[in-house]
Amino acid sequence: ATPIGLLVGTGRGAQLGILIRGPQVLEDTRRIDTVLLDKTGTLTEGRLAVVGVHPLGSLAEDSVLAHAAAAEAGSEHPIARAVVDAAEAAPGAAPLPAPRGFTSSPGGGVRAQVGAAVVLAGKAEWLGENGVDLTGAHRAALLEAQEAGSTAILVAVDGRLEGVVSLRDTLKEGSAAAVGRLRRLGLRPVLITGDNLPVARAVAAEVGIGPGDVFADVRPEGKAEAVRALQAGGAVVAMVGDGVNDAPALARADLGIAMGSGTDVAIEAADITVMGSDVNQVGQSIELSRRTLATIK
Ligand code: ADP
Ligand code: MG
Repeated sequence: ATPIGLLVGTGRGAQLGILIRGPQVLEDTRRIDTVLLDKTGTLTEGRLAVVGVHPLGSLAEDSVLAHAAAAEAGSEHPIARAVVDAAEAAPGAAPLPAPRGFTSSPGGGVRAQVGAAVVLAGKAEWLGENGVDLTGAHRAALLEAQEAGSTAILVAVDGRLEGVVSLRDTLKEGSAAAVGRLRRLGLRPVLITGDNLPVARAVAAEVGIGPGDVFADVRPEGKAEAVRALQAGGAVVAMVGDGVNDAPALARADLGIAMGSGTDVAIEAADITVMGSDVNQVGQSIELSRRTLATIK
């Protein structure tokens, strides 16, 4: 490992806000042929908003949202922030006791005790693993939300499913152009996300990535697995991400690129950090590295 913070292509790299970890990185940028792009926070803003609440049990809409917010109060996830904000803006529900015993399972969901009740909010598979039975009607409601392009989470109280909360993220303005730039560099862009397949495919289509180049419903440890699988197939892989859940894949990839707007864990695992949140800087940093290498040689 080379020292953190070494700026290569100094004047230009610094000007562009691109931090390259060491000389070896320049060589790596030349070899890569595949770029895995995280969805949430990389291609999208990562600022979600609740767009709907669908009650499926005995609780009313506001109460489903209030229970979800109580469970999410201890989480830093963008989903959690959106749910808490929406519950605060919906004055209808009766106030709930303060949540206790919060735990979170990255890529799965959150759990907390609210009064005497245990509230779970998260993915269908994760709720299933935690003893919540999903009926066909529950799955249909979830699928409906997902096919409308929403990130959807399920809310259960004392093991009984109470509803679906639908959330939307916004595509970053420059994402489609950024993906086009990667293609012009001869690279194959691939989308990877823990979010559901319909949402992943919708975002992929918007940025010009085909449905065959989408990995969805990927657990955090699965992102590094996906990198490994592509490498086993002969690809030389760059991973672009911003989250704690991207760190193992950033470290595993032949080239890790972190968004500067992301978490420290991601930045520490990466070879290149692009300042701010402009995804177009991914292609720019690869171009800059390749040009710098050509100058040195
Ligand atoms: P991404 O790859 O999009 O950044 P994550 O790995 O953080 O996704 O999360 C994947 C999925 O796990 C989410 O779409 C959601 O279904 C579920 N999940 C993760 N964290 C939470 C949370 N705090 N509350 C509810 N669901 C969550
Ligand atoms: Mg992310």
